[in-house]
Amino acid sequence: CGIIGVASIELRDSALAKITLEALKNLEYRGYDSVGMASMDSSHLEVRKCTGNVEKFERSRNPLSMRGNIFLGHTRWATHGEPSDVNAHPHLDCSGEIAVIHNGTILNFIELKEDLLSKGHKFSSETDTEVIAHLIEHYRKVGMDNFSAFKHAMYDIQGDHAVLAIIKGDNRIFFSKRNSPLVIGLGDGMNLISSDVWSLIHVTNKTIPIGDDELGYISADSFFAEKFSGERINLMSRLVIQQF
Ligand code: GLU
Repeated sequence: CGIIGVASIELRDSALAKITLEALKNLEYRGYDSVGMASMDSSHLEVRKCTGNVEKFERSRNPLSMRGNIFLGHTRWATHGEPSDVNAHPHLDCSGEIAVIHNGTILNFIELKEDLLSKGHKFSSETDTEVIAHLIEHYRKVGMDNFSAFKHAMYDIQGDHAVLAIIKGDNRIFFSKRNSPLVIGLGDGMNLISSDVWSLIHVTNKTIPIGDDELGYISADSFFAEKFSGERINLMSRLVIQQF
């Protein structure tokens, strides 16, 4: 599938929805059974999604009316759970405060899901991806800060992934990668993160590739990454200026 995240200082609402949609159109070749977006600002988190392609999503879900200065977008290629509106990404936790998109498969999702069900979590989809939102929720509930909760969720999942997650009240987009592509784009007053460099070229030619077993976060004006082992990464040393 294709994933995109955008965080901006000045652009918001329809202007940022438009940038996200544009990126989704360029990512559509990676997955085309369902499409979805999440948008967020300090007091609001919203998800819209449906089966079908980006054009149908735009027509039926009116994403240009979504509000916020942080957006996520996903085109799905189903591996766990049939293509359906509820199985489309983004997926939410029980509280509706955490939204997650994912490219890949979670090999141990059945045991993770059973454990979360036994802790009282209620699931809305048949996807493997939804466990990530509930894992983050679980780790926050036991007292971890948002980044620690995200990291512990990532340490728990087995299999290939590129994951983006947002949490209401936090202006960061958390990311993690193992064997699925992921690249940061540095824009003007805005940062992006995507499955594919070419989905970013309508905004920026400055990119930073993320390596395997690396995780971190971006905000509109900052970025941070570390290895799964905890070793900090100097992202600026990897800056690439794309030539077109
Ligand atoms: N395994 C996830 C699902 O089936 C993500 C698939 C993808 O990469 O599009 O929902």
